[in-house]
Amino acid sequence: MSAVRIDGKAAAAELLAITSHEVGKLKADGIVPSLTVILVGDDPASDVYVRNKVQRAQEVGILSIEHRLPANTSQEHLLALIEALNGDASVHGILVQLPLPRHISEQAVIQSLDPLKDVDGFHSHNVGSLAQGLPSFVPCTPAGCLQLLQGVVAELSGKHAVIVGRSNIVGKPMAALLLKADCTVTILHSRSRNVAALCRLADIVVVAAGRPKLVTSDWIKPGAVVIDVGINRVRDLDRARLVGDVDYDDVATVAAALTPVPGGVGPMTIANLMANTVLAARQQSQLKR
Ligand code: NAD
Repeated sequence: MSAVRIDGKAAAAELLAITSHEVGKLKADGIVPSLTVILVGDDPASDVYVRNKVQRAQEVGILSIEHRLPANTSQEHLLALIEALNGDASVHGILVQLPLPRHISEQAVIQSLDPLKDVDGFHSHNVGSLAQGLPSFVPCTPAGCLQLLQGVVAELSGKHAVIVGRSNIVGKPMAALLLKADCTVTILHSRSRNVAALCRLADIVVVAAGRPKLVTSDWIKPGAVVIDVGINRVRDLDRARLVGDVDYDDVATVAAALTPVPGGVGPMTIANLMANTVLAARQQSQLKR
């Protein structure tokens, strides 16, 4: 068997086209959707992520504003900036690029965001709404994973989904989304036992562990669908390249469908950030009426 390669770039292009159309409708109503991105420090990976987000925003017609702050920025200064952005009606979405320097509490920063502008969906208000199955901003990466799954799995209801990883930004919200889609959900993490055997029970496997090529074919039930969230930078013959948490070539021999890295989940994350920003702009404009 050779797995279907799930094309995240094509799916993201479709979502971006829909989002761009929505931006046009908002502009016709006199609303220019805007996203403010805050980057503290000079982490090279974060710098690339921020540049990609700003570029994609411009492509779909979203006004994007960058605040690049030095690594020694105080927490008070960052919180004051967020307070000002929360109060600025022309700013619809605020994204604080993580990770933050160690002297700044990520939790304090996330909780300081206006939940209506929290386009990453990390504020406890949005996390709680998602856990209760209520409308909320859904974190962009798990939202993208769900959309890719919906593209290849005709009926999610009743499927057994195993998620490898329990982070707040991927594993936990992924579990909430799949539960909402009526899957039976198992979450595995670094303290779990029999990880490979539990994965082998799954119809759907979502891997977000941050461990290069952790998942091999002996973890996967023949015919399962596998979503690889991992982005790991490895050096190969003195060349830097990206690999996922799944050994693609090996797992492709047993899975029905599989996402590549790069070109799988990554593009969907950015596309969902744009969609969330448009949703934020629409909701805020309706509140003003
Ligand atoms: P994290 O480090 O916060 O969490 C990793 C999780 O994996 C933890 O819950 C840990 O318990 C679990 N884990 C680690 N090793 C394990 C093992 N051997 N068996 C079972 N569980 C194990 O990471 P994160 O922020 O969730 O990110 C995970 C990966 O996804 C990283 O490679 C990250 O770069 C990538 N990522 C990609 C996107 C994207 O847009 N594609 C977005 C976010 C994160």
